[in-house]
Amino acid sequence: MTCVICAGEIRKKKVFEEVKDKNNHLLVKVDAEVCLNCGERYYPSGVVDKLISLKESLRKRNLKLHEIGKVYELLKQ
Ligand SMILES: [Zn+2]
Repeated sequence: MTCVICAGEIRKKKVFEEVKDKNNHLLVKVDAEVCLNCGERYYPSGVVDKLISLKESLRKRNLKLHEIGKVYELLKQ
């Protein structure tokens, strides 16, 4: 299989996808096929559904999470 956008070579990789709910961000490691040329990601079936269901769980605070950092907003420049 080659990339549908640029016809580049595609490799299987573990990638971090970000699931967001308002200001909360959850990083999830998933399997994807990534174009080595343009970076386009292709997900195996089930991964997108998993991300959607994680977004819902994140919104409901249904997950056991480990904090790895904080997001700040600059109030004054
Ligand atoms: Zn590509």
